[in-house]
Amino acid sequence: MSTTVSGKSGTWRNWAGNVTARPVREVAPASVEELSAAVRKAAADGLRVKAVGTGHSFTAAAATDGVLIRPQLLTGIRNIDREAGTVTVEAGTPLKRLNVALAREGLSLTNMGDIMEQTVSGATSTGTHGTGRDSASIAAQIKELELVTADGSLLTCSEEENPDVFAAARVGIGALGIVTAITFSVEPIFLLTAREEPMTFDKVTADFDELFTENEHFEFYWFPHTGNCNTKRNNRSAGPEKPIGQIGGWIEDEFLSNGVFQVANLVGRAAPATIPTIAKISSRALSARTYTDIPYKVFTSPRRVRFVEMEYAVPREALVETLRELKTMVDRSSLRVSFPVEVRTAPADDIALSTASGRESAYIAVHMFRGTPYQAYFTAAERIFTAHEGRPHWGKVHTRDAEYFSKVYPRFGEFTALRDRLDPDRRFGNDYLRRVLGS
Ligand SMILES: Cc1cc2nc3c(=O)[nH]c(=O)nc-3n(C[C@H](O)[C@H](O)[C@H](O)COP(=O)(O)OP(=O)(O)OC[C@H]3O[C@@H](n4cnc5c(N)ncnc54)[C@H](O)[C@@H]3O)c2cc1C
Repeated sequence: MSTTVSGKSGTWRNWAGNVTARPVREVAPASVEELSAAVRKAAADGLRVKAVGTGHSFTAAAATDGVLIRPQLLTGIRNIDREAGTVTVEAGTPLKRLNVALAREGLSLTNMGDIMEQTVSGATSTGTHGTGRDSASIAAQIKELELVTADGSLLTCSEEENPDVFAAARVGIGALGIVTAITFSVEPIFLLTAREEPMTFDKVTADFDELFTENEHFEFYWFPHTGNCNTKRNNRSAGPEKPIGQIGGWIEDEFLSNGVFQVANLVGRAAPATIPTIAKISSRALSARTYTDIPYKVFTSPRRVRFVEMEYAVPREALVETLRELKTMVDRSSLRVSFPVEVRTAPADDIALSTASGRESAYIAVHMFRGTPYQAYFTAAERIFTAHEGRPHWGKVHTRDAEYFSKVYPRFGEFTALRDRLDPDRRFGNDYLRRVLGS
């Protein structure tokens, strides 16, 4: 085994710093065989096992008091099949490494989220998504999955092979086994033109159906305490390339990702009464801009200001009403929210516990600057989201349990039955899974 850090020295902490765990030991297997051996050894020692990615989840999905499996030595590209249009990667590969390697080969994923720090297995296990009219989450781009199950054996699944496992394990929340490799569908690299444009809340919500229908990838941010939004439309383009650096836009780049935004949040945390004024000034500082680049450079950007997040998927047709209710709630409250609310979409997919399972979806994400109390805001937001049969992101703060999920996921029982078969002793269990899956 390549690294084994035992017990007391190692407290594991997630990116946001709101979850910690004290595993009995940590292991970083360098091969599938070493991983299988680690699972068998944990079983022999009566310990539970949990694989972790880069800890970018805000929930305790990756926390364990047993054996923590680290991803850093299970990385890299196993195979590219140009004819089939697929790439197979080791489960611990960071999305960034995958994107860069694919671009070098003239290939790309079809859609992705806001950042690319996560591992491929961590990102897909919680249903990480970007925004899309026709293209869905990263997990929906999986063609084949390989995992080590509770008895240490290797199981491969795809639409043809073990299709029942494939239907569930693409968004497995770490409950069905430890993913060791993922085969993604890829396509020849393409260019996207991004058009960012400030718009009023009233206009975005009035025109939402049109903006959604007319663009391959539409998303927007609403700035609480203001009637201002920033919209982003990404559409495929014939070029030429016109990267962001060539068109300036220092304020925009700095705004969401680091310097200016960090300072604004620190001021807001120290003096919450200033937040509405800061929000008005900063939301107006953004200007329209258009740029064209390869997909990962358009979809993703660094997020250096730390925050805590809750995100729910609601039926797409309920988006505007849900968002208006959220705005009314914030306007009528004494809450002070310095982070924008992000809105994205996804088409329905066929994965049992994907937030978009069998349902055209829109996502609403609320954020709070790290170190600012978030419970009151998130509780009020969650009440609105759940009234619209919202499904929370598995990796973002929420308070829902198995009873709730059995109502909002028609295929919930299919997932738990498979889990009973693959992991009857709950080798991969933890407190989070006990809450959300019921045992
Ligand atoms: C700054 C930031 C930006 C984000 N942007 C987005 C976004 O745009 N869209 C979105 O949908 N989400 C987003 N997220 C959420 C994030 O993508 C998810 O929480 C994702 O699961 C994190 O991946 P990770 O590699 O850090 O996994 P972790 O958080 O470490 O683990 C997540 C889950 O995956 C399981 N897991 C990890 N590896 C394996 C494995 N090999 N086998 C089985 N299970 C495994 C863990 O046990 C755990 O249950 C963002 C989070 C942050 C902090």
